Amino acid sequence: MSQSILVIGGGFSGLTAAVEAAEMGYQVYLVEKESYLGGRVAQLNKYFPKLCPPTCGLEINFRRVKTNPNITFYTQAEVKSVQGSAGNFNVEVVVNPRYTTPQCTNCKPGEAVASVEAPNEFNFGMDNRKGIYMPHPMSFPNQCVVDPAVAASAEGQKIKDAMPAGHVDLSQKPETIQLNVGAVIVASGWKPYDPANMERLCYGKYPNIVTNMMLERLASPSGPTGGQIVRPSDKTMPKKVGFVQCAGSRDKAYLPYCSYICCMATLKHICYIREQSPDTECYVFYIDIRSPGAKYEKFYAKVKADAKVHFIKGKVAEVKPGSSADSVVLVAEDTIGGGKVEQEVDMAVLATGMQPVGALNPIPGIEYDADGFVKPKEGIVPCGCAKRPVDVVSSAQSATAAALKAIQMIRRAG
Ligand code: SF4
Repeated sequence: MSQSILVIGGGFSGLTAAVEAAEMGYQVYLVEKESYLGGRVAQLNKYFPKLCPPTCGLEINFRRVKTNPNITFYTQAEVKSVQGSAGNFNVEVVVNPRYTTPQCTNCKPGEAVASVEAPNEFNFGMDNRKGIYMPHPMSFPNQCVVDPAVAASAEGQKIKDAMPAGHVDLSQKPETIQLNVGAVIVASGWKPYDPANMERLCYGKYPNIVTNMMLERLASPSGPTGGQIVRPSDKTMPKKVGFVQCAGSRDKAYLPYCSYICCMATLKHICYIREQSPDTECYVFYIDIRSPGAKYEKFYAKVKADAKVHFIKGKVAEVKPGSSADSVVLVAEDTIGGGKVEQEVDMAVLATGMQPVGALNPIPGIEYDADGFVKPKEGIVPCGCAKRPVDVVSSAQSATAAALKAIQMIRRAG
């Protein structure tokens, strides 16, 4: 029987579960598919409840990971299968090459000679990155990455030659690791729901329709515009912004559940916009505003009191071209005021929902419900958004509970 715990996913919930279990004296393996830890929170400009920047909570957790000898973590690593039962799971993990060594913390010389660019995934393709790059300024581990598509090409060799000796290693290969653990905590998180699935919302058809996560990157000082919330088409500050709530969520055709965070995210985005541009008017098209708890309700009341913010109770049924090539018209049925509303805006923000990673990349050996959320069973404990849509605070709470559950299961099995 193994006393070790595997944590799948190195976002806020995975990090929390890993440090909680390790600080109880258990050996923890933390496996993250991206090249950095921190997950979705690392992409936010600010997060609830205190609206602090992601460095706030993440740096403390990174320090706890770094200083705890009970934690072994792998990035760019994928769990391929989980087999066995509580107390004795065999897990196959593939660690993909980074093509750099740990001393590679500054890729400027390689970037300077690189000629090929690719969309920057961290900023949802709103800018480009080179073939060697640091995923983002707060990356942990603080180590550059060479794009696998570039590593095998002449461009990869050019980058290697420009970098200090020993920093780039193009001979690295994927490595398969076998782990034996007593319990598995699944903290595989979520992906923003693909807005292209909802044809009526015209994402990709008009340039100034962005998603709520894109807006986070636009507002972030480390984002593609240095924190300026501007329209993609002409880089100007929008004077009218429309928010389309439940973009994909609470709809049997897409995600049948409420994604929990997107109402609060929109209220936060309105604050970002109004701070930068006191003249900008915001229009929120909603079914219900979900602001659970006293703090969130108070935040909602504050935003509602702003005369430049207009709430329209109605689901956006159609998006039409506006009077200029850069604007669009949001069309909805106003269920309170009555009648059809057609509001022209300079930029539309789709409040896209959360889709659990399990719906898109299920792991053999883990059981999922119809929506892709992980089903718990003896020895396998889901937490955070792998279990249900939650905010960061609830995610951390469920991760702490998951660490305790995993320890209990190991003890029972032993
Ligand atoms: Fe819709 Fe708000 Fe629920 Fe998101 S949180 S799915 S926007 S009701």
